[in-house]
Amino acid sequence: MANATYLLAVNFSIGLAFSLAFVGIARSQRVSMGYWCASGFLFASSAASVETLAPHTAMPALISFLSFSCLLTALTMVTAGLLRNFTASSLWPLLGLYLSLEVAFPFVVTGAKRDSLFHAFSYQTPFAIMTALGGAAILSGKKSRKTIPERFLAAVLFLTSAQFLFKACLAHAIGTGSSVQTYAFSSYAQYSQTISAILSILLGVSLMMVVMEESNSRTRHTLLRDHLSGLWTRRAFFEHSEAALKRKTGTGTPVVILCDLDHFKRINDTYGHAVGDEVISVFAACLEAAGGDVCGRLGGEEFAALSLNSNASLAQLHVEAVRARLLNAEFRQEQLRPTASFGIAVMEPGETLSEAINRADAALYEAKSRGRNTFVFSRNEKDIASILREALLRR
Ligand code: GH3
Ligand code: MG
Ligand code: MG
Repeated sequence: MANATYLLAVNFSIGLAFSLAFVGIARSQRVSMGYWCASGFLFASSAASVETLAPHTAMPALISFLSFSCLLTALTMVTAGLLRNFTASSLWPLLGLYLSLEVAFPFVVTGAKRDSLFHAFSYQTPFAIMTALGGAAILSGKKSRKTIPERFLAAVLFLTSAQFLFKACLAHAIGTGSSVQTYAFSSYAQYSQTISAILSILLGVSLMMVVMEESNSRTRHTLLRDHLSGLWTRRAFFEHSEAALKRKTGTGTPVVILCDLDHFKRINDTYGHAVGDEVISVFAACLEAAGGDVCGRLGGEEFAALSLNSNASLAQLHVEAVRARLLNAEFRQEQLRPTASFGIAVMEPGETLSEAINRADAALYEAKSRGRNTFVFSRNEKDIASILREALLRR
């Protein structure tokens, strides 16, 4: 059969297959963008099935409107999912735009002469706008660094948008068939449906990559965050700190602070494990609220904070701020007044994070032996040498 009905059937199948795949992903990975994409592809397959009815219809205007409406709904759904996922914008303006384009169709497109430039552009431009909005949502999104799948998806969306405008020119140049009924037999329908098949596969695959990546990054985040304190786990603290130190730009000195709750075993033994858990999560909140670029729970009741641009006096203020917050914190056991000890290491040029943490650990040990509820600065070998030299000179 030398018409585009086969291609319409192909596009119907592509839409349905992606729709089912996205429902599966959305259900198993709990990524809401999957549902938006599933609805989008379902409407796209409906658009193809409506167009297959065209040769047999007695109501061409209705078929034309339904096919326009299904495709516009499909693209709006995908764009809504992208806006939700990548930006904090409300969906109301998008809904307003969608409804105005739908309402305008019978007045603008149906009234225009078939295949006139005006008809072709008023039919295709709404699709071009919707897909371009989807691409813009990704590029203007809250995340500053876009991943490769995100950039690829944005490129596919802009390509799809340009393709709609190209189709308008093509429709005007070669005609889309003398009527809605003969559309499927036109050369235009064959070109148009072939391009649609290629682009919908590209769009489906790139959307799927982004949805999977979103799900992976959520899983990673859950694994790397300690569930009780909400801070980075030990491994994540080291990873993030190393990366932050590599990226560091300011002129201040990095400082590592290690903290350990005092007589925590006693709190557990006196009030129970649940109260101990509450103390851990309250202390974590105090530590995070007091500042620092990377905060983590290294294990049990031991925590760490890294400040990238600091110095000894700022580090002292930082520790005092944590202690003040802990002192004023409220607990279910009102009489509970937990304290913590701190070891501080101001990083030396060329010193590794592990070396600084070891020094901070030794300083923390010193704080414990001085009676707890205090902080101690680590002195590195250079400091000790200069102290000895000063002592010798004073003699
Ligand atoms: P110090 O002042 O010398 O640090 O004494 P401490 O009692 O705080 O230290 P110790 O290492 O003797 O005890 C730590 C306790 O922390 C032992 C362990 O049962 C408890 N702990 C570790 N992780 C958790 C947790 O997630 N929740 C609760 N409730 N307790 C925990
Ligand atoms: Mg302790
Ligand atoms: Mg401890």
